[in-house]
Amino acid sequence: MAQRTFSIIKPDAVRNGATGAILAEIDKAGFQIVAIKKQSISKQQAEGFYYVHRERPFFDALTTFMSSGPLVLMVLGKENAIADLRKLMGATNPANAEEGTIRKKFAASIQENAIHGSDGEETAAFEIGYWFAGYELI
Ligand code: ATP
Ligand code: MG
Repeated sequence: MAQRTFSIIKPDAVRNGATGAILAEIDKAGFQIVAIKKQSISKQQAEGFYYVHRERPFFDALTTFMSSGPLVLMVLGKENAIADLRKLMGATNPANAEEGTIRKKFAASIQENAIHGSDGEETAAFEIGYWFAGYELI
Protein backbone atom coordinates (compact mmCIF):
# COMPACT_ATOMS: atom_id res chain seq x y z
CA MET A 1 0.00 0.00 0.00
CA ALA A 2 1.26 3.44 -0.87
CA GLN A 3 2.38 5.58 2.04
CA ARG A 4 1.38 9.24 2.30
CA THR A 5 3.55 12.19 3.23
CA PHE A 6 2.96 15.89 3.48
CA SER A 7 5.03 18.48 1.61
CA ILE A 8 5.19 22.25 1.11
CA ILE A 9 6.82 24.18 -1.72
CA LYS A 10 7.91 27.08 0.50
CA PRO A 11 7.37 30.80 -0.30
CA ASP A 12 10.98 31.35 -1.49
CA ALA A 13 10.63 28.71 -4.20
CA VAL A 14 7.19 29.97 -5.26
CA ARG A 15 8.57 33.55 -5.44
CA ASN A 16 11.54 32.36 -7.51
CA GLY A 17 9.28 30.69 -10.06
CA ALA A 18 10.50 27.20 -9.17
CA THR A 19 7.08 25.64 -8.47
CA GLY A 20 6.82 23.85 -11.82
CA ALA A 21 10.40 22.58 -11.75
CA ILE A 22 9.98 21.20 -8.21
CA LEU A 23 6.70 19.50 -9.15
CA ALA A 24 8.54 17.94 -12.10
CA GLU A 25 11.22 16.53 -9.74
CA ILE A 26 8.52 15.10 -7.47
CA ASP A 27 6.75 13.55 -10.47
CA LYS A 28 9.97 12.14 -11.92
CA ALA A 29 10.72 10.49 -8.56
CA GLY A 30 7.46 8.55 -8.79
CA PHE A 31 5.20 10.34 -6.32
CA GLN A 32 1.44 10.59 -6.91
CA ILE A 33 -0.11 13.95 -6.09
CA VAL A 34 -2.96 12.94 -3.76
CA ALA A 35 -3.96 16.57 -3.06
CA ILE A 36 -2.51 19.99 -3.87
CA LYS A 37 -3.41 23.63 -3.17
CA LYS A 38 -1.67 26.99 -3.51
CA GLN A 39 -2.50 29.60 -0.89
CA SER A 40 -1.06 32.07 1.58
CA ILE A 41 -1.09 31.19 5.28
CA SER A 42 -1.28 33.42 8.35
CA LYS A 43 1.51 33.74 10.90
CA GLN A 44 -0.80 32.00 13.40
CA GLN A 45 -1.36 29.06 11.03
CA ALA A 46 2.42 28.79 10.54
CA GLU A 47 2.95 28.83 14.32
CA GLY A 48 0.47 25.97 14.77
CA PHE A 49 2.14 23.97 12.03
CA TYR A 50 5.65 24.44 13.45
CA TYR A 51 4.50 24.11 17.09
CA VAL A 52 7.24 21.51 17.80
CA HIS A 53 9.84 24.19 17.04
CA ARG A 54 8.25 26.84 19.31
CA GLU A 55 11.27 26.97 21.68
CA ARG A 56 13.86 27.20 18.89
CA PRO A 57 15.61 30.54 18.33
CA PHE A 58 14.54 30.64 14.66
CA PHE A 59 10.80 30.10 15.39
CA ASP A 60 9.71 33.72 14.88
CA ALA A 61 11.78 34.20 11.71
CA LEU A 62 10.63 30.85 10.33
CA THR A 63 6.91 31.51 10.87
CA THR A 64 7.26 35.05 9.46
CA PHE A 65 8.95 33.58 6.38
CA MET A 66 6.32 30.85 5.94
CA SER A 67 3.55 33.48 6.02
CA SER A 68 5.39 35.89 3.68
CA GLY A 69 3.73 34.79 0.45
CA PRO A 70 1.93 32.01 -1.36
CA LEU A 71 3.08 28.44 -0.92
CA VAL A 72 1.98 25.07 -2.26
CA LEU A 73 0.58 22.46 0.15
CA MET A 74 0.65 18.83 -1.02
CA VAL A 75 -0.12 15.30 0.04
CA LEU A 76 2.12 12.87 -1.85
CA GLY A 77 1.68 9.13 -2.18
CA LYS A 78 4.28 6.45 -2.93
CA GLU A 79 5.72 3.34 -1.40
CA ASN A 80 8.17 4.61 1.27
CA ALA A 81 7.00 8.19 0.55
CA ILE A 82 8.21 9.74 3.83
CA ALA A 83 11.84 8.61 3.62
CA ASP A 84 12.04 8.93 -0.16
CA LEU A 85 10.83 12.54 -0.10
CA ARG A 86 13.35 13.44 2.62
CA LYS A 87 16.07 11.93 0.39
CA LEU A 88 14.86 13.88 -2.65
CA MET A 89 14.75 17.13 -0.60
CA GLY A 90 18.35 16.96 0.67
CA ALA A 91 19.79 18.35 3.91
CA THR A 92 18.03 21.20 5.79
CA ASN A 93 20.98 23.48 5.06
CA PRO A 94 21.39 23.57 1.25
CA ALA A 95 25.13 24.04 1.75
CA ASN A 96 25.17 20.42 3.00
CA ALA A 97 22.65 19.06 0.49
CA GLU A 98 23.75 16.37 -1.93
CA GLU A 99 24.02 17.01 -5.66
CA GLY A 100 20.75 16.39 -7.45
CA THR A 101 18.51 17.14 -4.45
CA ILE A 102 15.76 19.78 -4.54
CA ARG A 103 17.42 21.90 -1.85
CA LYS A 104 20.78 21.76 -3.66
CA LYS A 105 19.08 23.00 -6.84
CA PHE A 106 16.55 25.51 -5.50
CA ALA A 107 17.31 26.53 -1.89
CA ALA A 108 19.24 29.63 -0.84
CA SER A 109 19.68 29.26 2.93
CA ILE A 110 18.97 27.06 5.95
CA GLN A 111 15.71 28.98 6.51
CA GLU A 112 14.62 29.64 2.92
CA ASN A 113 15.13 26.06 1.85
CA ALA A 114 12.45 25.59 -0.85
CA ILE A 115 10.63 22.51 0.43
CA HIS A 116 9.21 20.82 3.51
CA GLY A 117 8.64 17.10 4.01
CA SER A 118 7.22 15.20 6.99
CA ASP A 119 9.89 13.47 9.08
CA GLY A 120 7.90 10.43 10.25
CA GLU A 121 4.56 8.62 10.17
CA GLU A 122 3.06 10.45 13.13
CA THR A 123 4.22 13.82 11.84
CA ALA A 124 2.79 13.06 8.40
CA ALA A 125 -0.61 12.19 9.88
CA PHE A 126 -0.65 15.41 11.96
CA GLU A 127 0.50 17.59 9.05
CA ILE A 128 -1.93 16.13 6.50
CA GLY A 129 -4.80 16.64 8.94
CA TYR A 130 -3.66 20.16 9.76
CA TRP A 131 -3.94 21.38 6.14
CA PHE A 132 -6.39 19.03 4.42
CA ALA A 133 -9.91 17.86 5.15
CA GLY A 134 -10.70 14.19 4.55
CA TYR A 135 -12.86 14.99 1.51
CA GLU A 136 -9.89 16.69 -0.19
CA LEU A 137 -7.84 13.46 -0.17
CA ILE A 138 -8.62 11.32 -3.18
P1 ATP B 1 11.21 20.77 7.17
O1 ATP B 1 10.61 20.44 8.54
O2 ATP B 1 10.80 22.14 6.68
O3 ATP B 1 10.97 19.69 6.17
P2 ATP B 1 13.75 19.89 8.12
O4 ATP B 1 13.00 18.75 8.72
O5 ATP B 1 14.89 19.60 7.20
O6 ATP B 1 12.79 20.87 7.32
P3 ATP B 1 13.71 21.12 10.74
O7 ATP B 1 14.81 20.93 11.70
O8 ATP B 1 12.42 20.40 10.94
O9 ATP B 1 14.29 20.86 9.27
O10 ATP B 1 13.42 22.68 10.68
C1 ATP B 1 12.23 23.18 10.12
C2 ATP B 1 12.56 24.37 9.27
O11 ATP B 1 13.03 25.42 10.10
C3 ATP B 1 13.67 24.17 8.25
O12 ATP B 1 13.26 23.58 7.05
C4 ATP B 1 14.12 25.59 8.02
O13 ATP B 1 13.23 26.29 7.13
C5 ATP B 1 13.99 26.17 9.40
N1 ATP B 1 15.26 26.08 10.14
C6 ATP B 1 15.82 24.97 10.68
N2 ATP B 1 16.97 25.23 11.29
C7 ATP B 1 17.15 26.57 11.15
C8 ATP B 1 18.17 27.50 11.56
N3 ATP B 1 19.24 27.08 12.25
N4 ATP B 1 18.02 28.80 11.22
C9 ATP B 1 16.93 29.22 10.53
N5 ATP B 1 15.95 28.41 10.11
C10 ATP B 1 16.06 27.12 10.41
MG1 MG C 1 11.27 19.02 9.93
